[in-house]
Order: sequence, then structure tokens, then C-alpha cells
Amino acid sequence: MEMHPHISTIVLTEDEIQARVRELGEQISRDYGEEPVLLVAVLRGAAIFVADLARAVTAPVELDFMAVSSYGSSTKSSGVVRILKDLDENIEGRNVLVCEDILDTGLTLKYLLKNLASRKPKTLEVVALLNKKDKQRVPISCKYTGFDIPDEFVVGYGLDYAERYRNLPYVGILKPEIYAD
Ligand code: IMP
Repeated sequence: MEMHPHISTIVLTEDEIQARVRELGEQISRDYGEEPVLLVAVLRGAAIFVADLARAVTAPVELDFMAVSSYGSSTKSSGVVRILKDLDENIEGRNVLVCEDILDTGLTLKYLLKNLASRKPKTLEVVALLNKKDKQRVPISCKYTGFDIPDEFVVGYGLDYAERYRNLPYVGILKPEIYAD
């Protein structure tokens, strides 16, 4: 597939992502076995990832979605989170696996995990496709990680810049001139 003209570098190819998502699915399937697992995707970035991941898991899977937004500046995570869309499911006593596109500061997820834990799930784990491991962040116990990537702003495979590029099948870095500062 041709590279989008706004992309300068491909960080992860479509094949690399698909192979890793299959591996994550196998690992998750081994861990849960016949136990049902509720995949909770955090909108909107994780929508593409969870669609592929769900099909790579052989354990009985259910899906639910949450949408959150940070208060304050849109470019920096403040850790103050507002729930825009809550789960439809009651998660008490259930195996919950939160699916995230990317761990950056970890602030959003920290809030979310605290909130979900208070609803008394049987288990509560996290799978993140991407992890900016060099980024200073609050410690998150993330059981499954797809890739560690450098601390650069990336788009594609669900990740956006101003709501664009989510549909790219790969993860890449935008050309600097695309950012409207
Ligand atoms: P944080 O971990 O609270 O800082 O926020 C994580 C959220 O910020 C992710 O779920 C993404 O929606 C967004 N985000 C963080 N880094 C990137 C990036 O490199 N590209 C696109 N979105 C990002």
C-alpha cells in the first residue's frame, strides 16, 4: 500500500501490527481459556485495535465501550477525566480487559482503572497496542503490550491528529508541516 502523502516515516507496518495483534490474541486466549472476557475499548482511538483483537481471541468475548475526555488543555493530559459515555454493561464479578490504543502519560488510564475497580470486577487488566515507555508517566500495570515506541506523536491504526488518519492501516509520523500550530 502506498504511503499517505502527509506521513514522513512508517513506525509500524500493517504486517507488523497484524502479526502482533494475532500474538496478543493468542496470549489472551491462553490466559482466559474458557472464561468469558469483556473487552472494554476506550473510544475513539482503540476502536480499530479492539476490532482486530476481538477476532484474534478464542476465549468467549464480549465488547463494551467507554468514552472519556480530559478537562483543560487538549494537548496535555491533566489527569482530570470526564466520562462522556459510560459502559452499558454491569462489570461486577466479570473479567474485564481494558483495550487502549496508546499509553502516553498514563493519567487517563489511571483514573479509568480506579473508576472501574470500584465496580468490583472479578479481574481487571489492560492491553495497550502502543507504549511510549520513555515518557514520564504514572505507573500503570499493563499486562499486555503490543509495541514499545519512541516518544513521538504518531497517527494511524486508530490514532488521530485532529480526527484524521485513524484509517491508515499502519502507524506513522506526520510531516512537521502538517501540524497547524
Ligand atoms: P494519557 O496516557 O492520559 O496521556 O493519554 C493517552 C491518550 O492520548 C491516548 O489514548 C490517545 O488518545 C492520546 N495520545 C497519546 N499519544 C498519542 C499519539 O502519539 N498520537 C495520537 N494520540 C495520542
